[in-house]
Amino acid sequence: MKALVYGGPGQKSWQDVPDPRIVNPTDAIVRIDTTTICGTDLHILKGDVPAVQPGRILGHEGVGTITDVGASVGNLTVGDRVIISCIKSCGHCANCRTGLYSHCLGDEGQSGIGWIFGHLIDGTQAEYVRVPYADNSLHRLPEGVSDEQAVMLSDILPTGFEIGVQYGRVKPGDTVAVIGAGPVGLAAIATAGLYGAAAIIAIDLDKNRLEQARTFGATETVISGSGWKEQVLALTDGQGVDVAIEAVGIPQTFEMATRIVRPGGNVANVGVHGKPVELHLEELWIQNINISTGLVNANTTPMLLKLVAQQKLPAEKFATHRFALDNILDAYDTFSRASETNALKVVITR
Ligand SMILES: [Zn+2]
Ligand SMILES: [Zn+2]
Repeated sequence: MKALVYGGPGQKSWQDVPDPRIVNPTDAIVRIDTTTICGTDLHILKGDVPAVQPGRILGHEGVGTITDVGASVGNLTVGDRVIISCIKSCGHCANCRTGLYSHCLGDEGQSGIGWIFGHLIDGTQAEYVRVPYADNSLHRLPEGVSDEQAVMLSDILPTGFEIGVQYGRVKPGDTVAVIGAGPVGLAAIATAGLYGAAAIIAIDLDKNRLEQARTFGATETVISGSGWKEQVLALTDGQGVDVAIEAVGIPQTFEMATRIVRPGGNVANVGVHGKPVELHLEELWIQNINISTGLVNANTTPMLLKLVAQQKLPAEKFATHRFALDNILDAYDTFSRASETNALKVVITR
């Protein structure tokens, strides 16, 4: 088969590799029908994730059709259309039993690390992929949900919802600020209303992304130039927001989140950080705030899938560009130049 293979920092190629096969009885083989590229893939290609070794097939998001199942897979059969969760889940270990799939203790990849596709084992930017713990890591697609909608449930929608909205403890009537209106920030904006957020303020440098944010449910937009903080405070009668969600992953934006949260509020960090961040506890210790971080568990995917199926969550709106799998290198080019191309998610189909 063909797959996108990491060749070390700055290097990738679309090349022939051996077909994956069942290794463990809990595995399934999935033919990839639709995949996409994540900001994390760009981090890997920069060399920011040294655990990813040359030769690894990239990608952790995908939708496909099961072509083979191991002997102990019980819930799924050949021909089923499925979403591949970006997080493995054996379903039996101490962490899986509490829903903490992001730290699944199963042996695949590495015990204690839930994100394994395109990281510790071969990923989804390929014609086929081996999915460990298939019963608990794949979600069968109902009729009426398109691949393009479903692929947004592999990672971005559960990440924005669980790590932004749930960890941020959004409650009815809250004012929520989301810093960074990229795909995951937009996913937080799109799902903040599920817990009754009354006002959602999107903050970004990019005017186009702020326009997009309004279509996903933002009620206010603020350009993160000079005076941004005063604008946010003015929208909250000077009090600050109830929940500040950081969805960029740089020190400045994390600090922004701590500057606009009201006393007693929540800062939910969603961004993937590559550099140390200063935490001004000398000012914050008196503020009674909570700060949360985390990797998605993807344990809300079945619930989010129901909302997508009922047209309550506009998953399809994340798709801005479309490519054939054979042209995945062009998809990378478009996605990596998102500030020029206005790409949110590039959808890649076989
Ligand atoms: Zn991702
Ligand atoms: Zn587990």
